[in-house]
Order: sequence, then structure tokens, then C-alpha cells
Amino acid sequence: MDIEGFDPELVRRYDVSGPRYTSYPTARQFTTAIDATAYRGAVTRSNEDFIPSALSLYLHLPFCSSPCFYCGCSRLITRRPEVIAAYLERLHREVALQGQCFDRDRPVRQLHFGGGTPTYLSDTQLAELFAALHDAFNFAKSGPVEFAMEVDPRSVNATRVARLAALGFNRVSYGFQDFDPAVQQAVNRIQDPGHCLGLIGAARAAGFRSVSVDLIYGLPCQTEAGFTKTLRSVAAARPDRVAVYGYAHMPGQFKAQRRIRSEDLPDANLRLRLLTLAVRELTAAGYLYIGMDHFALPDDDLVQARNAGTLQRNFQGYSTLAGLDLVGIGLTAIGHVGDLYAQNAKALNDYFAALDAGRLAVQRGYRLTADDRARADIIGRLMCYDELRFADIERAHALEFTRYFAPELERLAPLAADGLLRVGEDGIAVLPRGRFLRRALAMVFDAYRPREAAANSYSRVI
Ligand code: SF4
Repeated sequence: MDIEGFDPELVRRYDVSGPRYTSYPTARQFTTAIDATAYRGAVTRSNEDFIPSALSLYLHLPFCSSPCFYCGCSRLITRRPEVIAAYLERLHREVALQGQCFDRDRPVRQLHFGGGTPTYLSDTQLAELFAALHDAFNFAKSGPVEFAMEVDPRSVNATRVARLAALGFNRVSYGFQDFDPAVQQAVNRIQDPGHCLGLIGAARAAGFRSVSVDLIYGLPCQTEAGFTKTLRSVAAARPDRVAVYGYAHMPGQFKAQRRIRSEDLPDANLRLRLLTLAVRELTAAGYLYIGMDHFALPDDDLVQARNAGTLQRNFQGYSTLAGLDLVGIGLTAIGHVGDLYAQNAKALNDYFAALDAGRLAVQRGYRLTADDRARADIIGRLMCYDELRFADIERAHALEFTRYFAPELERLAPLAADGLLRVGEDGIAVLPRGRFLRRALAMVFDAYRPREAAANSYSRVI
């Protein structure tokens, strides 16, 4: 059985809290110095690039019908259709405004509907949104495209899945978490395993190119026996990708998590055994470990992208398309255009007020420095690949690696001694024992870590 490099003892030793590096720097560095004017400036500059990049659109659809107690997403629980209609009215305005900012010849290659529960919207509402996006932006007519949607299995059936494919979505990710009834009860998310698994086949039949399943370990009432059953039934249904996230219990930050009784949570030993189980079951079933929490079948695009050197880390985890400007649309959505991160208002009232006044809803963000760009590049490579060549970083960022990053190389020494990586004259090789601890390697290059370690409210590595 291939779980080469997965050493539970080592994983336990490096179990410190830290960012997931879906961006660098993380959103904690965002400030209100970045507003809609700064964002428009960044978009204008990107339009003037010699070859402007293609676009990736992220739409945030924050509504859910009931709270899952583990949830740490930015979402709003409502059963009032008029609230959703009011939001969609503003979202359409923002789609039009954002579309006016970008040159029309920049093709959209990536689209992601996230939430919340995007499929809480009706088919008509989704179709209208899709039509508005096509009016405002120029969708690529050839070449690779990734149009993805996060789907709550409780909100769809095979017919709805087929309608999503007909709209143009070619990737779907289903949130299964755990099929154990006791766990589902404890997290307030009851979903029938047969129905969930059937949706994998439904997506294939509808023509989806990639089907992904999200699971969570570390949930209340979770047992090894129950999680094994979930893992085996999911692996048998052969989704292209499986993401296994560790539940981060931070009730001070997420109100819904206060409904989880701490005595029901697995202790550190059980958490580690659940993670070990996931790695063992998925690798035994033929899935390859991509990095962080992601596994994929050998013929999946993520594996191909890793082999081709085009794998990227982005806000959704991993992506196969490199170098796109990201347009964030909707409440709390984050965009990344050129050197600028820009995040929309987090409060519904502020979001509505900006769009009612005909303004973009950007409220904060961050402008990357040259140092940030170099570190983001290094962290991105360490999160995706087993090799980092100094010459690549030196060429891209005009610096001398061993001199510029001398303190970091020194801090890597104990990790090298533990067999996580090897530092040679030309670069860094991530060894099999380090593949599961990429976050710990990346943290060494994070200039903001020392300051943030004191605050320490990130999730743990396992
Ligand atoms: S986990 Fe998903 S469906 Fe559940 S409350 Fe959070 S965003 Fe909504």
C-alpha cells in the first residue's frame, strides 16, 4: 500500500496552526487603504499589459437554508426569497460594472460559483446570472475552460445536475463530509448516502469533466469505523478528486460552531488516526496525493497540470490554469488583479449601498510588494511541486536566493534534519516525508508569520 512519506508521528510534531496559503499574503494583511479607486487603477493597468491575461470570475452566493454547525464559510442563513432577490439585483449590477472595467478581448477561462449554497438559487435565477455574465464578459470560445460550482447534495437531483451542465458548468464539487448518521446529526447536516453517491454518476452522465467530493475529518461523534465506511463508499464511486479537510473548531470566530459540544470532538490522537485512514484508504483506491488536502485520480487534470508544471494554488484550493486575473463578485468576494488583492464589503448593507450608488463594493485589500511577490512565488511552488529551483526565483524576481533568503534557509535546517526536504546548491527538494507537511515548509518563507504566531487563530496543520 503506497502511503510513502506519511509519517503520523512527524505530522503530530508539526501540528502547529498556520494559513492554508490559498493566497500570499493572506487576507489578514488586507487594509482599507485599498478601495474601489485603487482596484479600478489595477484593472486599467492590467488592460494595458502587452498581452493582458485571461480572466477568472468568482461569484459569491452566500445564502443557505440552515446552518451546518461546522461551517466557517461566509454565509447567510435565510428562508426569505425577497432577501435573495434583493441580493441578486445588486449582484447583477456588480456583474455589469465589473464587466465594464475589463477590456472585452480578455477571455474568461475560469468561473467559480461558491457560497453559501449556490444551488439554493432556482434554475431560473442561475440561468439569469449566467446570461448576465455572458453579456458582461467575453467567455472563451476555444482552449481550456474550468467552470465550477459548489453543490450541496441536499439541494439537487439528477435533473438539476443535468441543467447545471447545460448552463455550461463542467466541474462540480459536492460536500459529503461524512455519511455516519451520528456525525450528520451532530453537525446538523442530514444527507442520504445513496442520494449523494448517485449524484456522482449523474454528473458524469450529464457530461461534467471533473467531479470532486469534499469530506471532513475531526467532526463531532466521528469514529474510525464510520469514516472508513464513508471513505470506501466514496472511493468506490470514483469521483475524479477527493478533498479531505480537517475540521477547525474555532467557536470564538464562528458562531454556528458553538452548537458543537466540545466533548463530542475527537481528541488529537483520533484526529490523527482519521487523517491516516483517509490517506491510506484513498491511496489504496488509486488516488494520488496532490498536496494539502487534495487527492486525485491519475488521469485527472490536477495530476496532468502538476506534471506539466501549470498547477496553481488559488482561493479554491488547487487550479490547473495559471496566470489569470481574478475578478471577485459578490459579498466578501476577493479579486486579485495584477499586484492588487481587493475584497468586497462583508456586510450586506454596505454591499447594497455601494452598488445602489453605482460604485464597486471594494472595501479593503492589499498591494503586493516585490518581497511579497517573491515569497508568494516560493510558497506557491512549495505547495504544488516537489522541487524549487533557486535559478527560477532569481530570474523571476532579480535577487540572489541564498543571500536574500539566508535566514529562511537557516530555519529550514531542522526540517531538513527531520527528512522533510533537502537543500542543495541549486534548490530545494521536498522529500516524501515533507509532502504532507507542505504548509510547515511554506510557513518558513512567510514574512508575516512571526507577527501572527502570537494571535494564533488559524486552523492547525492536521
Ligand atoms: S457548510 Fe455550506 S451549506 Fe452548510 S452552512 Fe456552510 S456554506 Fe451553508
